[in-house]
Amino acid sequence: MHCAEAGKALIKFNHCEKYIYSLSVPQYCPLCQQDLGSRKLEDAPVSIANPFTNGHQEKCSFLLRPTQGTFLSAHGVQRDGAGWEQSISIPLLQPNMYGMMEQWDKYLEDFSTSGAWLPHRYEEDHHNCYTYTLTFINCVLMAEGRQQLDKGEFTEKYVVPRTRLASKFITLYRAIREHGFYVTDCPRQEVQPPEGGGLY
Ligand SMILES: [Zn+2]
Repeated sequence: MHCAEAGKALIKFNHCEKYIYSLSVPQYCPLCQQDLGSRKLEDAPVSIANPFTNGHQEKCSFLLRPTQGTFLSAHGVQRDGAGWEQSISIPLLQPNMYGMMEQWDKYLEDFSTSGAWLPHRYEEDHHNCYTYTLTFINCVLMAEGRQQLDKGEFTEKYVVPRTRLASKFITLYRAIREHGFYVTDCPRQEVQPPEGGGLY
């Protein structure tokens, strides 16, 4: 994805009984060429938020980025000043956990400097950046007196929903970049229940 376009939402609107996705609302429907100016309210375009955020501006979050890379450089765990501009961010704290928020950097600092994360301890499958993150999250949970998460639970509950959303977005985005728009069928309109004699 191009940097200048990061953070940009996509637009979805309804025409020709289809959902049409694009970067902005065109003046004419790309399918029937009809003027889109006079539209019913229920057909008003909705915007689909870009799931990628600038990770450098996120606090207390677990960040994922689509590019490959190892976090454990020759220097062990390091701070990145750049490179996370388009990440998927999974907030780890409830917005009201101020105490924890203040402690966060210190916790992370102490945690990261422990011997467990020295470069030579790195192992592709069992001791990687994911282990690092999950172990830290569990330390926080423990400090909060909450139940710990195993890798499967964490992935299923927090990571998968966001990556799924992001991958849908990327698919849409690429199709739009290539063709100018993207079309899907509208799900069939719900049949209105007959009046009188209903459940309610
Ligand atoms: Zn149309």
